Amino acid sequence: MNTEPDSQISSSDISFRLRQLPSVDSLLNSAGGEELIVRFGRELTLEALRRALDLSRYAIAEGRQQQIEIVDLIASADSWLKELIAPTLRPVVNATGVIIHTNLGRAPASSAAIAAIMATAKGYSTLEYDLESGQRGSRTIHAEKLMTRITGAEAALVVNNNAAALLLMLTALCQGREIIISRGQLVEIGGGFRIPDVMAQSGAKLVEVGTTNRTHLADYDQAISEYTSAILVAHHSNFKVVGFTSEPALGEIAELAHQQDLLMLYDQGSGALLDTSKFGLDPEPLVQTALQSGVDVVTFSGDKLLGGPQAGILCGRETLISQMKRHPLARAVRADKMALAALSVTLTRYLTGQALNEIPVWQMIARPLEEIEKLAHEWAELLTIKGLSVEVIDGQSTIGGGSLPGATLPTKLLALNHPKPVKLANDLRYQDPPIIARISEDQLVFDPRTVLPGQEQALIGAIIAFS
Ligand SMILES: *Cc1c(COP(=O)(O)O)cnc(C)c1O
Repeated sequence: MNTEPDSQISSSDISFRLRQLPSVDSLLNSAGGEELIVRFGRELTLEALRRALDLSRYAIAEGRQQQIEIVDLIASADSWLKELIAPTLRPVVNATGVIIHTNLGRAPASSAAIAAIMATAKGYSTLEYDLESGQRGSRTIHAEKLMTRITGAEAALVVNNNAAALLLMLTALCQGREIIISRGQLVEIGGGFRIPDVMAQSGAKLVEVGTTNRTHLADYDQAISEYTSAILVAHHSNFKVVGFTSEPALGEIAELAHQQDLLMLYDQGSGALLDTSKFGLDPEPLVQTALQSGVDVVTFSGDKLLGGPQAGILCGRETLISQMKRHPLARAVRADKMALAALSVTLTRYLTGQALNEIPVWQMIARPLEEIEKLAHEWAELLTIKGLSVEVIDGQSTIGGGSLPGATLPTKLLALNHPKPVKLANDLRYQDPPIIARISEDQLVFDPRTVLPGQEQALIGAIIAFS
C-alpha cells in the first residue's frame, strides 16, 4: 500500500480514487472476506470491512493513499478483528522472582488442580447432589473434611475469597456489636482493601486499642464492654512493624476473650499450612497453630501460601461455622465449583505429604539455589552465544501476596546489560506471552525461580529477538 503523502494530487484524482474503492458487498464476497466471516462471523466482519473502507476514504481524501488493493482492506479488517477479540487476561512469564504475585494471579495451579478444574468444568458434577440419596446435597461438604483433618478445626467453610470470608464472619457473628482490634493491625492489604473498611461493612463497631507499634493485653482488657462480641487479630499481611514493638501472643488474647465470653477471631491471611522457617524464612503463623492457641474462627486465602485457587476459607468451631453457613450472605459469597475442585485436590497433597513436590508455590519456595544457579548459567550461555552482555548475579526472590512481609530467599539472577533497559522491559511485555522482568541498578534482571517449566524457550527467544 502506497501511503506516501502526495501534495500534487488534484481533486479529480481524489474523486477517481474514491470511485475505485470496492463496495462492502464485493469485499464480503471476496475470498478474503469469506474467510473473515468463517473466523469472526458475518456481523463483525461487515463492521470491520466498513471501518477499513472508511479509513481508506480518509487516507485518499488526505492524499495519503493512492492504490487501494482488496488484500489491503481485508488485512486492515483482519487486524482490527483480531485485536477486538484478543483476550485481555493472558498468561505471562513471571521472571520477577515474586512467588505469590497478586497482580500476576497469585498461586499457579498444580497439575492435579488443573485436571480437577477441567473435569469439573467440562461436564456435570456432584456440586450439590448427594449420590447416596439421589437428592439435593450441599456444596459446602466438598473441601470441608480435608480442611478439618489438616487443620484440626471442628468445621470449615469455603467462600469466594478471604475478604468475603472476613465479611461473612464479622457479619454473621458480630453485626450490631463491638469488635476490638489493635491499631497496629488496621492495615491496607493492597488494591485499596482495608481491614477497617470491611469491618465497618459488616455492621459491627470497631473499637481500636493500643498504638501502631505496641498493644498490650491490658489494652484489650480495658476496651471490653457489655457491647463487645469479639476480639479480632489480623495478620499484618504486607506490612512489617520493626523495632520497639509488642503484641500479645494469640493464645493470651484467646484466653482473655474466653474468660470474658467473647469470640476470638483471627484473619491469618496467607493460609500457611507448612512451616516456612524450614526454608530460611521467618516463621509464618500456621493455621493449625492458631486453632491450637484457642482461636474460635480463623480465615485465610486459598491462593496465597496454601497454593490453591482463589478462595476464602473459614475454619473453627462447629456452632460458629454453621451460623455462617446459614447466613444469607453465605450464598452471595459462595465458592464456585472449579475452585472447590481445585482446592480439594490441593488439600489432598498436604495430607499425603506431597505439597513440596507438587504445589507450585511450595516447589518454588523449596527450589534449591544450585538448581536456580544452573538455570541462570544455561540462559546466560545461550544469550552470550548470541552476542549479548549478560552475567549471573546474586539476588533475592520474595514471597509476596501479603505473606511474610519483607521475607526473601537468596536467588541467582540473570542480569542483562543493555543501553536501554526500560525500553527493553517494555518490548518484552509486548511479547506473546508477555515477559515480566525487573530492573535493578540499570540492569534488566530475570529470576529463574518463578519461571515455570516450559516457559524458558519463550523467555530466551524474546530476549534474543529484542536485545
Ligand atoms: C490477602 C489478605 C486478605 C484478602 O484476601 P483475598 O483472598 O485477597 O480476598 C485479607 N486479610 C489478610 C491478612 C490478607 O493477607
